[in-house]
Order: sequence, then structure tokens, then C-alpha cells
Amino acid sequence: MNEITKHAPAPAPTSSAACSVPLAAPIAVLAELTHRCPLQCPYCSNPLMLEKANVELKTEDWQRVFTEAAALGVLQVHFSGGEPTLRTDLAALVKHANGLGLYTNLITSGVLLDAKKLAALVDAGLDHVQLSFQDSEAENANRIGHYKGGHEKKVAVAALIRAAGLPLTMNAVVHRQNLDHLAEIIALADKIDASRLEVAHVQYYGWALKNRAALMPTRAQLDRATAMVDAARIRLKGRLVIDYVVPDYYAKRPKKCMDGWGRHFFNVSPAGKVLPCHAAESIDGLKFDSVRERSVEWIWANSEAFNRFRGTDWMPEPCRSCDRRELDFGGCRCQAFALTGSAGNTDPACELSSNHQAMFEAALADAASGEPNYVYRRIGGA
Ligand code: SF4
Ligand code: SF4
Repeated sequence: MNEITKHAPAPAPTSSAACSVPLAAPIAVLAELTHRCPLQCPYCSNPLMLEKANVELKTEDWQRVFTEAAALGVLQVHFSGGEPTLRTDLAALVKHANGLGLYTNLITSGVLLDAKKLAALVDAGLDHVQLSFQDSEAENANRIGHYKGGHEKKVAVAALIRAAGLPLTMNAVVHRQNLDHLAEIIALADKIDASRLEVAHVQYYGWALKNRAALMPTRAQLDRATAMVDAARIRLKGRLVIDYVVPDYYAKRPKKCMDGWGRHFFNVSPAGKVLPCHAAESIDGLKFDSVRERSVEWIWANSEAFNRFRGTDWMPEPCRSCDRRELDFGGCRCQAFALTGSAGNTDPACELSSNHQAMFEAALADAASGEPNYVYRRIGGA
């Protein structure tokens, strides 16, 4: 997710009966308008069981969600999917959010956009576009996304986005099968006049966990990539901001996943389930409330799924007595569940976790396997 700074910081905290610490207002909502997508990336962060079109929230449902979110203190809406431009009401939703004073960001593969659709979105008040690329090289990019002509379309759409006067972030998900093209990916971001490039290592849950052996980079690839980003940041200073985080499997400490569970963000699924992060449905046993039955305000304060891992009270050792517990909040709950079987464990990305060594060894083994094949993401599950 982008750092977006159009608006002032979140308003004063409210309190929650279900949580012993003061509860701050959320800053941003990720609105997954649909799980439908013309691409089939093997690392897609959507759940294995994708929601079908006939269960998607209607226009008026989404508008109510944004109204309630704004009243709660949300400042930004990120329109995502699947592919959000498949929704014919996208411009109406952007307009509604814009009318509430919310910053609006479109997260898109771009392959369905054209000048007319972009003009409608600009008229509706769209503030920013985040465009995803699968590689710098067309043949490999189109193979990864499983969409013929997709890369060429994205390059053309990037020019339309800039011509429309919209700021552009390029998002490049990197893994073993494209990381050796990182120099060219950075050059492409510069060429299409992106102001920000997210070099996002694959997060291994959902579809990506299924395809881990085909996607895991080697240590040598990673070291080269990290040095390349360091050099590019200096070379392109003032022209291109590059976001880059060392991937979990080779890290020593976990990332502050979602900036802490239920602290600043929430995600609404196409059918209306409200999640603390986009991958939270991969955790068995959590109950997610829906905007069809509850208000956004009620869910933010009371939903069991949010309160289960909020703050630090839930933490086991070694997090419980660690001086970093309010810096990284114990890392990623989805990863802890995927790799240890319990979302209540310390993220094994942390060197202090008893599961860390096994995670690191799995990375090395996957990377060394040379497995070239992966399962494409598709409606109906893997
Ligand atoms: S990751 Fe790929 S398949 Fe998933 S929503 Fe994005 S473009 Fe579509
Ligand atoms: S022990 Fe827990 S709080 Fe400490 S660094 Fe590791 S994950 Fe973070």
C-alpha cells in the first residue's frame, strides 16, 4: 500500500469496550471491489477461494461503506480487486468517495483502461493510480500474468495516466522468475514517468504459498537486487522514490505487517467481509463480520477478528517480553498461521522465533529446487 499524505493525520482516538488500549481511528480502507481479474498471477494476494460476481456488494452498499468509513475518520480509499476497473460503477464510487473528502487511489493491472475510462475517473476526482507490472520484458510478463499483450497495454496505459495528469506509482512484484531483470524494471519505472516504484517481494501466503518453490529467489539474487536498489535510489534521487523491503524468508526481523493488526487499516472483500488485512481469510478460525449486517464503526471496534490480535496482550514469548513488540507487533499473523499452524505464534521471519531456522531452510531449499512451474490463480480455487 502507498504512503499517501494528502490529508492530515487521523483524528483523536475513540475507545472500545472490547479492547483495553485506546482505539485509534483507521486511516485507510482497501476496497476490494471484485475478485474478477483478466490476469492470473501465481502470487495473487486474493484468497484461494475467490468470491464470484453474484455476491459482490452493490453500488449503494459500497457508497454506504465509504460514508461510514469517512465518519469514522478514514482518510484514504484504495480501490482494488481483482481488477477494479471491471466494475462499471467505478467512476460513481470514486465520485462518492471524493465527495466525502477521501483521497482516492486506483490499484490496477491497467489492461482494461483506455483514455475514455481514465477521463471519467479524473472527472470523478481520482487522485492517484498504482499500476502493476509483472516484468520489464513483455514475453515473460505476459507469461507470468497469463494475459497476451498485457505488458504492451500497460506501457501504453501508463502514458495515458500521465497525460491525464495523474501521479503514477509502478508496482512490480518480484520473485525468482523476474528478479534478474530488476535493473530493467527500475529503468521502465523511470521511462513511464512513475514518481514511485514499489519493488515488492512476493509474500508467501494464499496463491503464492502454493507456488513458493517456483517463486522463491536465491540468496545471491536477493543480494544483487538489494545492492541494485541502493544504487538506483542514489542515481534517481529526486526523480523516483523506490520502496523496497527485504523478503521475510531472508530477513532477521519481521515487518510491521499492516502497521499492526487492526491499528490503521481495514479491508473490505467483494462480498462485504471486513478483514484486518487482505490475506486474513487464510487464517482458520477467525470470524469476519460483514458490512451487510454491521456498520463499519461497530466492526472496527468490536469485531472478534480485529480484536483477536490487536495491541500486545495476545502475544506469546519471545514477543511478550521483547522491547520491539510495539515496533513490529510480532510480524505477520497470516505468515505465522501458514508456517506454524497458529496465527498466535511469533512470525517465523523473526530470528528469535523457534521456527525461524526452518523457514530460512525452506527458502534455501525452494530456491535451489529450480521448480519452473506454478499454478495460475483462477476463480473456483486451485
Ligand atoms: S495479482 Fe494479478 S491476478 Fe491478482 S488481482 Fe492483481 S493483476 Fe489480477
Ligand atoms: S520477538 Fe516478537 S516483538 Fe521481538 S523482534 Fe521478534 S517478532 Fe518482534
